[in-house]
Amino acid sequence: MTLRYYYDDAYRMSFQADVLERAEHDDQPALVLDGTYFYPTSGGQPFDLGSINGSNVVNVLVRPGDGAILHVLNKPIAAKRISAEIDWSRRFDHMQQHSGQHILSQAFLRALGAGTVSFHLGADTSTIDLDLTQMDEEGASSVERLANQIVWENRAIENRTVTRQEAMEIPMRKKPPFEGDSLRLVMIADFDVSACGGTHVARTGEVGLIKIIGWERRRNQIRAEFVCGSRALLDYRVKNQVVRNLSAVFTTGYWELESSVERQIDETSELRRQLRRCRKTLIDYQVADILNEAEGIEHDRPIVKVFTDVTTKELRIIANQLIAEKQIVSLLASVGDKTSLVFARNEDSWGDMNALIKDAFILLGSGSGGGSPTFAQGSCDVKEISKVNDALNTLRLQL
Ligand SMILES: [Zn+2]
Repeated sequence: MTLRYYYDDAYRMSFQADVLERAEHDDQPALVLDGTYFYPTSGGQPFDLGSINGSNVVNVLVRPGDGAILHVLNKPIAAKRISAEIDWSRRFDHMQQHSGQHILSQAFLRALGAGTVSFHLGADTSTIDLDLTQMDEEGASSVERLANQIVWENRAIENRTVTRQEAMEIPMRKKPPFEGDSLRLVMIADFDVSACGGTHVARTGEVGLIKIIGWERRRNQIRAEFVCGSRALLDYRVKNQVVRNLSAVFTTGYWELESSVERQIDETSELRRQLRRCRKTLIDYQVADILNEAEGIEHDRPIVKVFTDVTTKELRIIANQLIAEKQIVSLLASVGDKTSLVFARNEDSWGDMNALIKDAFILLGSGSGGGSPTFAQGSCDVKEISKVNDALNTLRLQL
């Protein structure tokens, strides 16, 4: 068994120890020491990083079976006695998040009567799963207020290892199943007692700030997402930047951003409606225009029209309106980034549109699509209007 020095001092950044065993984990060298300040992944808190005799510690875990702590390294070490350094910024970040979780869990209990089911400390944010089916903005705020009050009161956080008998008599928030003869308690003065093996700050003030940044319902629980300390500052910085950028775009104060965005959405919807009406009118005019031109065309001769400003969908609408109005064969194209083709005729006209559009692709040198004898559509990469016009007129004369 490895002695867990971090139980007594979470602030120690360097230490020396004897190597008890050289092992392997996932094909990487690992060491078992006689004692360690490295925290192994457990109880919702991830492992510490750092170095041992110049090798990087890339993972720290509890070996199932004997409970030894494996320090997984990027390269092996031959020494029997080692010097180790712990990555302090990562350790302190975990201390802030984990201590903040204890405070939050008790605050959820006192403000909303919600017990903590589980806790996870993530790389960016942490979560608490609560024995709670719903939470509103006001509920979350009351929890947050109480939690930060405890931070500002800078209460002491102490560890105490107690016997099984002592533990029975101490009221605590979180009573785990008893495995050994003793239990490690983490106590926030006059606020919270829970059994925990993690690393915590010495006073609540070091947590800095506790912010609930969101929550969601998961089955019959609420999962609350939160950040503490330096993560809360980073969260504020990033969100403040977003708000400042948006304020500059909308040329308004942040307090008016919501109404500005809503106004913008309403205006966009109205403009879309107007545009749809205008496009419809335009299509009607175009159809009328083509039919007018077709008056002079000999009966059943195909008409050709190349557009530059209509969508493929509009091209289909125009074709359908034309063949509904008149016994006609229409060969339509729209030239833009690519060229769309729609060939259509009504039942009383003649010609195989599917065969004709394949001929069009041959004349244009590329393209794909097809359809039925009465309606076919496709597209090709040609972008020259004159080339498309020439191809359609060649087909027109073939019919
Ligand atoms: Zn803890």
